[in-house]
Amino acid sequence: MSAGFPDFRLGNVLATSFTGTLSERHGTAVERIPTPQRLVDWLAVNGLAVDSCTTAQLGLARELRESIHAAATAAALQEDLPASAVHVVNERSVQGRAAAVLTPEGERRWQLSPASCVEDALSVIAADAVSVISGERDGRLALCASPTCRAAFFDTSQSRTRKWCDMNTCGNRQKKARFQANHRKARD
Ligand SMILES: [Zn+2]
Repeated sequence: MSAGFPDFRLGNVLATSFTGTLSERHGTAVERIPTPQRLVDWLAVNGLAVDSCTTAQLGLARELRESIHAAATAAALQEDLPASAVHVVNERSVQGRAAAVLTPEGERRWQLSPASCVEDALSVIAADAVSVISGERDGRLALCASPTCRAAFFDTSQSRTRKWCDMNTCGNRQKKARFQANHRKARD
């Protein structure tokens, strides 16, 4: 299913996992939802299965993604939120018909409207972004320390000192770079 396409990065915060579908924004950018089907795949992995996706809906998704990224970045830097980004996030949030429901095990699931359309799924992501950016959730918005990444991520660690959006990618790369630099120094 994913043959030939970049893998997804998994996170536990929906809104910032979604913005992570475009990574290395300040380096060689990697688009992880290059086709409508890959957005369908991403949504399924994140508990928002939809029946189908058109090119126009993929466009809406990417517009929402970049708007969340812009607003979350501003929030992390404690700057004013860009009005156009806020507009897009709100627009997507109000245009869905998703409902939170409880499973018998007491877990929260998202139930999309019978049409299970992409707009419903995007409204869940937009609402998640609202809760993260508004500061109503326990955590801290921060920007990844990797200069080629600078992704906005939501730090829920106890110390609130996380530096990288993802330990397995940006964190590891940084550690390796430091190790190699020290190694070189030791050799010289
Ligand atoms: Zn990063």
